[in-house]
Amino acid sequence: MARVAFIGLGNMGGGMAANLAKAGHDVRAFDVSEEALVRAEAAGCLRSSSAAAAAEGAEAVVTMLPAGAHVAQVYAEALGGVAPGAILIDCSTIDVATARQVAEQATARGLLAVDAPVSGGIAAATAGTLTFMVGGTDAGFARAEPFLASMGKAVIRAGASGAGQAAKMCNNMILGATMAATCEAFALAEKLGLDAQAFYDIASVSSGQSWSMTSYCPVPGVGPTTPADNDYRGGFAAGLMLKDLRLATEGAAGVGAAVPMGQRARELYEAFVADGDAATDFSGIIRTMRA
Ligand code: NAD
Repeated sequence: MARVAFIGLGNMGGGMAANLAKAGHDVRAFDVSEEALVRAEAAGCLRSSSAAAAAEGAEAVVTMLPAGAHVAQVYAEALGGVAPGAILIDCSTIDVATARQVAEQATARGLLAVDAPVSGGIAAATAGTLTFMVGGTDAGFARAEPFLASMGKAVIRAGASGAGQAAKMCNNMILGATMAATCEAFALAEKLGLDAQAFYDIASVSSGQSWSMTSYCPVPGVGPTTPADNDYRGGFAAGLMLKDLRLATEGAAGVGAAVPMGQRARELYEAFVADGDAATDFSGIIRTMRA
């Protein structure tokens, strides 16, 4: 078992660090939030006083931070002390350019680095059933895979450095657009006098089916239990969905790709967040569609 530094113990990172500790690793945990540190300690991790202290002598450093700027800052603080040949695994959802830049910095120091963003929400992070999409070299993937396997059900190689983030932003652009379309369709169905359950029974086995419909239904009491059944609390915050749609549309602009559906989804989530719903689950956008 290895000494692993885990930095960023929030909604996702808290459960992921706990699963690494459960797998028998010596997990040195750091977060700027005292509350997150207390939870990590209770889950079997050892608390560290800084990112650099957590990374000192670590064979693997896992980061699960909000955005690219946080990852760049933590890497700048922590890279100096890690063990030679260590693997750096960034699981945060960030822009491709920063992912490639931090990986290059690590490689220049003789370290291995991969971007390994995740699909699956807080429940999957806690249960250890995340899907990881990994960008990096063959050697980086081989070193990262056993650590990721302790936290997920699928570890898939996307390609070279940054490819994991490219896959993640494309995946979440589909998610943002299908959730907006699903909410819009339920709101229309209701206005046309259709019962929401009857519409679900039809669309969920017809060509309108998607993950947003059958795994994350935005209508309370219809389909599986989802954040809709908890007044749109918990789950995947609309503010994070907006971040991902910005990453996708900005990424598209950078390579001259037209993404009109992604752009429209971004505008819808921009309006929803501007209305004070950044912390609301992203399926809560159905309220706007009904209004
Ligand atoms: P979160 O805000 O709950 O957690 C982030 C943690 O990072 C916080 O505890 C914060 O205190 C800590 N942090 C910030 N700056 C730090 C620093 N300099 N040093 C140490 N700790 C620092 O966010 P989350 O929901 O856990 O998401 C983390 C990442 O995972 C994001 O990039 C998000 O887009 C992605 N993601 C989230 C979900 C989800 O369902 N929540 C799903 C897939 C991917």
